[in-house]
Amino acid sequence: MNSIGHWVNGQVVSGTSGRSGVIWNPATGEQAAAVDLATAAEVDDVVAVAKAAFPAWRSTNLSRRAEVMFHLRELIDANRKEIASLVSAEHGKVLGDALGEVARGLENVEFACGIPNLLKGGYSEQASTGIDVYSIKQPLGVVAGITPFNFPSMVPMWMFANALACGNTFVLKPSEKDPSASMFLAELLKQAGLPDGCFNVVNGDKEAVDALLANPDVQAVSFVGSTPIARYIYETGTKNGKRVQALGGAKNHMLVLPDADLDMAADACVSAGYGSAGERCMAISVVLAADSIADELVGKIKDRIPSIKVGPASEEGNEMGPLITGEHRDKVAGYVAGAEGEGATLVVDGRRGPPEHGFFLNPSLIDNAKPGMKVYDDEIFGPVLSVTRVAGYAEGLALINDNPFGNGTAIFTRDGGAARQFQFDVQVGMVGVNVPIPVPVSYYSFGGWKASLFGDTHMYGPDGVNFYTRSKVVTSRWPDPSTSTIDLGFPQSR
Ligand code: NAD
Repeated sequence: MNSIGHWVNGQVVSGTSGRSGVIWNPATGEQAAAVDLATAAEVDDVVAVAKAAFPAWRSTNLSRRAEVMFHLRELIDANRKEIASLVSAEHGKVLGDALGEVARGLENVEFACGIPNLLKGGYSEQASTGIDVYSIKQPLGVVAGITPFNFPSMVPMWMFANALACGNTFVLKPSEKDPSASMFLAELLKQAGLPDGCFNVVNGDKEAVDALLANPDVQAVSFVGSTPIARYIYETGTKNGKRVQALGGAKNHMLVLPDADLDMAADACVSAGYGSAGERCMAISVVLAADSIADELVGKIKDRIPSIKVGPASEEGNEMGPLITGEHRDKVAGYVAGAEGEGATLVVDGRRGPPEHGFFLNPSLIDNAKPGMKVYDDEIFGPVLSVTRVAGYAEGLALINDNPFGNGTAIFTRDGGAARQFQFDVQVGMVGVNVPIPVPVSYYSFGGWKASLFGDTHMYGPDGVNFYTRSKVVTSRWPDPSTSTIDLGFPQSR
């Protein structure tokens, strides 16, 4: 049995806890590997390694830090397939989808290549007579990232690219369900020239997370995962004096107005509802269909479902893979089983006929879902799309704004005025106008509102740079200096 250890100080080390977690092959339902789960003492040792690496890395000039990111960019680009295969093997998502997540993660490395420009501060000459004032951004020290199972390569890249480029050292605690992509990225960072100790991966569960939250040398924590854990991470981390950004779960609604192109809307519902088996925090899980077009839209979604190819990532042509574990598959199936008892209409039952082995479910479609029903209220995180019928824009908007989550949303319409009003009114962090999965590009920032994010800064992009730096303002006055020397060499920074 393949056993996955930790990545510490530039090499793989085996765990010493004697505890391990199961890594499944979700497409077969068999155990594929075991992962060592760290003790608090092991976590403290890793943090000490990252702390020791910090002084030299923060002193490394910007040009050299950018160079490491450029090298990393090339290495990830050259290894897209390898990374995607690791993701598919442990997560189950099909290869095309896994390649998509690698591409969206890579964007963040590309953004971090511009770090010399991103860390520029402001300068005010002659703020007072003979006095200049300027601001600088400095790294925090050791920062930690705790990531979910559903984007095993992209979400770590959201975090570590900017964190490292800003001059921090990093400890990543990936999901214990699919840690191999993180271990591989660690190897690529080493090949890219990142000094040992600057990036470390500690595998583990709650014990490792709690140790990171308690360790006084961890200055900041970036978290992505479910809402209850995000809230816990935020409350515990901030209580311990850390800077924390904790992104939580979602229940994303897509409002379809009567003037929308219904074929386009149905395509979008199917793509965003069932892609990655619904295991995306930006998946559409509720379609708010205006009454006058609801029957037609439900019919069009229903007609499209039989053509979705469900099966293992290893077979070319499949579009939707299994769920992450048997336990999660059963939980999702439970929502489908309970839908009719709650008063909803089960239009397509995805429990029927999925591939026999592995943790598969077929897509389910539920009509007449309403607030108060579990299928409507809970984040299901599976291939289950619910339709809620609304009188029109106002009722749809009210449902979205009443929802405790506020991660993503979309409106489908041909009315520019309605879309503009929606963008203005809606209390959600990421909004799509005829775009069902509006994940911001890397030079914006990613984050929801309400129970989808705890903290003040969104992730990656400009907010990421702010999160991973502290600003300092210098007020300076100099007597007339005569400090110049002669140097005929061409000026260079390294
Ligand atoms: P999860 O909350 O179970 O786990 C996330 C991380 O927290 C993992 O590393 C895990 O080891 C750790 N963890 C789990 N239980 C813990 C505990 N009791 N104490 C301390 N740490 C703990 O989430 P998941 O199932 O891996 O991922 C799916 C969830 O993540 C969904 O809710 C999804 O919406 C959310 N998600 C959100 C975003 C976003 O950007 N908002 C992105 C991706 C996923």
